[in-house]
Amino acid sequence: MKIKRLEIHGFKSFQDKAVLDFNQPITGVVGPNGCGKSNVVDAIRWVMGEQSAKNLRGKSMEDIIFGGTEFRKPLGMAEVSLFFSTEDGRVPAKYLNFSEIQVTRRLYRDGDSDYLLNKTPCRLLDIAELFMDTGIGAKAYSIIEQGKIGMILHAKPEERRFLIEEAAGVTKFKARKVVAMKKMEATRQNLLRLGDIISEIK
Ligand code: ATP
Repeated sequence: MKIKRLEIHGFKSFQDKAVLDFNQPITGVVGPNGCGKSNVVDAIRWVMGEQSAKNLRGKSMEDIIFGGTEFRKPLGMAEVSLFFSTEDGRVPAKYLNFSEIQVTRRLYRDGDSDYLLNKTPCRLLDIAELFMDTGIGAKAYSIIEQGKIGMILHAKPEERRFLIEEAAGVTKFKARKVVAMKKMEATRQNLLRLGDIISEIK
């Protein structure tokens, strides 16, 4: 899965819609201090499901919505769309027939939010599953920001293991194991209740 394009509207300093095409092997974002370079990375992280305002350099999630300037009114909504090419075939089977995958996240100032996969509303979980084991994702290693290398080097072994498991492709199976364990526990509780009912009837 390769990032093809990023569309940003109303996110942080991007009051007008901005489109960034990543159609070269390497893309550099250059500009003066404070022009919004890091906001591009924040937008990518956010659309992939980042839940922590702190990781996006804000106090609350509302801080990611364009807050206005001397000349422009604040906006009521932030929207970011990230487009991936599926050409390398390294996508979940259900997306193989699509030429691209579009992931969209919206946040309104009243706190309402939407996630969309190929323009269809979906859950955050669907987006997380799409990225599992790809190395892409809100917590994966595809975004190496300032200080991250140092953080990895100083991380506890179990924290570092998370990155290795993601690269090895076992994250998805671990997540599925958690879901299966929950189902097994629910079934065990149901069986206990059933046993109680049977012994009451006897
Ligand atoms: P540097 O080169 O110094 O690291 P940068 O180009 O990476 O800077 P960013 O940190 O991406 O810059 O952007 C900072 C700018 O984004 C500031 O001007 C700040 O006012 C603006 N900004 C951040 N959040 C919002 C918001 N919600 N609404 C409007 N502007 C915002």
